[in-house]
Amino acid sequence: MTSPLNTTVCPRCEVSTVRVLTTSPLPGVWTMYVCDTCFYTYRSTEEAAATEPAAYPEEWKVDPADIPGMIAMPPVPQRRA
Ligand SMILES: [Zn+2]
Repeated sequence: MTSPLNTTVCPRCEVSTVRVLTTSPLPGVWTMYVCDTCFYTYRSTEEAAATEPAAYPEEWKVDPADIPGMIAMPPVPQRRA
């Protein structure tokens, strides 16, 4: 038996800023959520490692305090000669 999906706490940053982003075209098949703190998105039908804070891999967690200092995109390396 699986536990109900935790849809109030973000699996990645563990802040309670998760909201519904969109739902499946066929009603009731899946719901997509987005975290307004770290912008992590996930679908309700994904495995627990992607949807549950307790099962989300520790090495991929994000500390909300680190977010303001993060770069938006990786820098593009210099062109090779
Ligand atoms: Zn988050």
